[in-house]
Amino acid sequence: MTDEDREDQRLQEIFDNFFKERPAPEQAVYKGRLTELAAFESEHFHTLYEPGILTNVKARINGRLRSFGKLIQPPHGPATIHFDYIDGTISNGLTFVKEGVYFIGVTSRMLLDFEKASASLTGRASVRDLLVAPIDASVVRALCNTFFAIQLQFTVFHELGHIFHAHCDARAFREEYRLSPMEKLLLLYPDQDLEQAKEFLADRYAVRMLLEDLIATATGASMHAQIASALPQDECIVWLILLSIGSSFFFGPSERFHPPLARKRDHPFDLARLNIVMRSIVEWSQSVGRTDLAEWASSTQNFEWVTACIQDAASMETKREDWIAQGHYLKTDLGRDYLDIIYNEKGVVTQDMVDTWWKVQPSDVPTAE
Ligand SMILES: [Zn+2]
Repeated sequence: MTDEDREDQRLQEIFDNFFKERPAPEQAVYKGRLTELAAFESEHFHTLYEPGILTNVKARINGRLRSFGKLIQPPHGPATIHFDYIDGTISNGLTFVKEGVYFIGVTSRMLLDFEKASASLTGRASVRDLLVAPIDASVVRALCNTFFAIQLQFTVFHELGHIFHAHCDARAFREEYRLSPMEKLLLLYPDQDLEQAKEFLADRYAVRMLLEDLIATATGASMHAQIASALPQDECIVWLILLSIGSSFFFGPSERFHPPLARKRDHPFDLARLNIVMRSIVEWSQSVGRTDLAEWASSTQNFEWVTACIQDAASMETKREDWIAQGHYLKTDLGRDYLDIIYNEKGVVTQDMVDTWWKVQPSDVPTAE
């Protein structure tokens, strides 16, 4: 056993114990670490997936978190960050700190959402047309595995974004979604602009991490090669990123869309988040002088192609109606104002908050492994 394996095992035990020590009602929802990954895969995953995908993606993500953790500057100093799967009955991502280690978890239920999203997208001719990818068994498999891996990475990086930005509870115990049965009450509550801005920051952070990892990198090149797309490499990658994130919203946990509740919830609605993703790509591309990608991500048509492909991928009528309603709302003055409010960092993010964010070594921008 290598030192790294031993360390991994130690972190896995702390992770598991965290859930075993929670109050009983919570243990019914989060049962502990998900072990027996191979059995879980063979029971639930479509044959399109490469065997061992859960183990492989987890190792890749943890490698990335290890190298990222080393870049944290004092006063926090280098951080140990570890990701694992939770045996859980609801679809959720979460963060907590135990014994000085920052943990990120994704539930088995959420893995099933992503599994379904990726396999469904892969099966669509419209998606392969969009990516200009041939109909070939190995390409179809590669596509399915790629969607799944990006969805999982986006979710983990989103959670990392909450830790990075020191969001309320992210360093204690933060659950992404909470069930709120009495939504009518929400209408009486104040607007949740600050909570929504946190989600925006975490999404933007996750998009940037993905772009750093995949644009003009060896990882991106190998993804492009496997999919055999006739598109230029980086254009293919941004489509993959947008399709993956969009479908993780479509297939993931969410509440019915209702305009009066738009600002009352703690998360922006799906299409607002996808809009934020596009804006984040524009922002990042401009910062690295990639006007071609900035232009791509500024196109309303591209946005609409992606949402159409995703809605087409599954017969989820209610969800499809919701997305149509969201799309209409975003085109109204009210919808445009709403996006400006949640996107307006300066309006809700104070200097005090910025001071508590982790800082990374500026000379050492994270790059692909
Ligand atoms: Zn979040």
